[in-house]
Amino acid sequence: MLEGMLFNIQRFALHDGPGIRTTIFLKGCPLRCKWCHNPESLNPGTSDGVGETMTAEQVMKEIEKETIFYDESGGGVTFSGGEPLMQPEFLDALMDKCRQKDIHIALDTTGCVSPQVFDSLAAKADLFLYDLKIIDDAGHKKFTGSSNKYALQNLETLSKKGKRVIIRFPLIPGITDTNENVTAVAAFVSSLKGIHDINVLPYHETAQHKYRRLNLDYEMEGVTPPSPVHTKEVKKLFETYGLNVI
Ligand code: SF4
Repeated sequence: MLEGMLFNIQRFALHDGPGIRTTIFLKGCPLRCKWCHNPESLNPGTSDGVGETMTAEQVMKEIEKETIFYDESGGGVTFSGGEPLMQPEFLDALMDKCRQKDIHIALDTTGCVSPQVFDSLAAKADLFLYDLKIIDDAGHKKFTGSSNKYALQNLETLSKKGKRVIIRFPLIPGITDTNENVTAVAAFVSSLKGIHDINVLPYHETAQHKYRRLNLDYEMEGVTPPSPVHTKEVKKLFETYGLNVI
């Protein structure tokens, strides 16, 4: 029986796509962003004491509990993480089951997986919440531990295929919020056909206690959230590139 590793199921989620949604958080992530707000999601196993093994049927039972709310609100299911594409077979089975039940599927992804894996799974999602952090590859490697080569390539593929995408841009002081990076993100996204929406997610300190609990070093110690003025400036810059900041 096909099993996957989850670390949370969030019901009545309102910020993970349209309408009322159930967000399924799958464990495991290929990145190690210094600001990660879900450190409990990174390890694909349970050696950190976090996570639960479930079958695809069990997860579907949870998803289907709220079907009536999806129908009434135009919602559905969102697969998030970690990086949900790290469990490709499990995700594939879940998406097939959701499609059979006509449940809208959003995929919250970094796109940092090989194009072969990405393409086969991307075909089954209705909407992408696509993390875009740093355009310069050396900077991406420095602050997330990985290259952004696949992330950029897979995003271009979604654009070419006419998929519905909302970019998620984390505004991290001193890391992603530099004028150079914001301009590069704006230029890249606005060059992609059919992708216009961008979500700016300002850094917040709420993850700090999770790091303590998991006995992990919190590298963002002392970093404060971006000021409302700076956040507004970033929003404006995106808008000058014709992007819709949501
Ligand atoms: S991609 Fe998301 S889950 Fe993975 S390390 Fe970065 S912030 Fe954390």
